[in-house]
Amino acid sequence: MNGNCIFCKIIRGEIQSKFVYEDEFVVAFNDISPQAPLHLLFVPKKHIKSLNDIKENDEIMLHVFKAILKYTKQIGIKEYRTVINTGKESGQEVLHLHVHVLSGRDMNWPPG
Ligand code: 5GP
Ligand code: ZN
Repeated sequence: MNGNCIFCKIIRGEIQSKFVYEDEFVVAFNDISPQAPLHLLFVPKKHIKSLNDIKENDEIMLHVFKAILKYTKQIGIKEYRTVINTGKESGQEVLHLHVHVLSGRDMNWPPG
């Protein structure tokens, strides 16, 4: 946990946010500024800054992607985009690892 991290605050319940999904390792909630009709953030409960900060043998991304599969199946969506920004230049604003899940509109590549 990191005292100043906005996602850690959400996970601790210090910032009001409804979790659409939660398990031992992962929470998911709606992005505050949605870029598609469905825009969720899947966030490991453990504070890890980015994909580059995952330690060897850490199974955290397995838990995150299992959560994504479980939840998307539950709500019945099969077509969606997953995005992980790593580092400021890539567009990472919140330095707590997370996966964006976007769905509900046609998305051409590249995004934007
Ligand atoms: P990044 O740019 O780091 O990949 O994505 C961070 C995302 O977090 C952005 O899409 C932004 O809209 C979202 N976000 C930032 N602050 C909050 C917040 O307080 N609550 C929620 N639900 N989303 C947030
Ligand atoms: Zn954090």
